[in-house]
Amino acid sequence: MTEQEGVVKYELLFDQAEPVSDHDYGDLNRWHGRFKRAGILGQDPQRYDGLGFGNLSQRINNSNFLISGTQTGYLDMLSPADYALVTNADISTNRVTAEGRVRPSSEALTHAAVYALDVGIGYVFHVHSPDIWKQRQHLGLPQTDAGVPYGTPEMANEMCRLYREGAFQRGNVFAMAGHEDGIVGFAASADEAGEAIMALLHRSTA
Ligand SMILES: [Zn+2]
Repeated sequence: MTEQEGVVKYELLFDQAEPVSDHDYGDLNRWHGRFKRAGILGQDPQRYDGLGFGNLSQRINNSNFLISGTQTGYLDMLSPADYALVTNADISTNRVTAEGRVRPSSEALTHAAVYALDVGIGYVFHVHSPDIWKQRQHLGLPQTDAGVPYGTPEMANEMCRLYREGAFQRGNVFAMAGHEDGIVGFAASADEAGEAIMALLHRSTA
């Protein structure tokens, strides 16, 4: 089962607010650029009905994280106004509370579910790579169940299952089998999460 990109599955409580300005967006912006140049984040009339794909987030504290706004994949450079601050995410009720100039990515609940796995996770990067996704088994990637759509409580449960089963002990990247080309990397640092994805991309296109 695959599904359309960019469709918000969760209930969003959103407040217009000033962007978070006292924050260093350097890591997020650098990886936005690298992923975009690699073709695994962006916007392309030939892919996903022309909708933006890929989104990056950074934990601010236990309950808050910054995430790229919905449909910002086409931008070469993001400004603070292109990020939303997620202040609460209730996975069991499928509800996200956020604020900013722009609404959060449609995959904010997926990011929230990854952060909930471990307080040491500082960054979550979601990209769309047909190369990695098609070779996910060959590459030995953990994967969420193909029948589970992204951005749902079931997806969060799937990630908890992988975590419990120790699937992330050998790596910090997994494939979303029910979300075409969907790959998620996470780590304490941006470079750790980003380089893990890039290494898989190189292996899958070698
Ligand atoms: Zn996606």
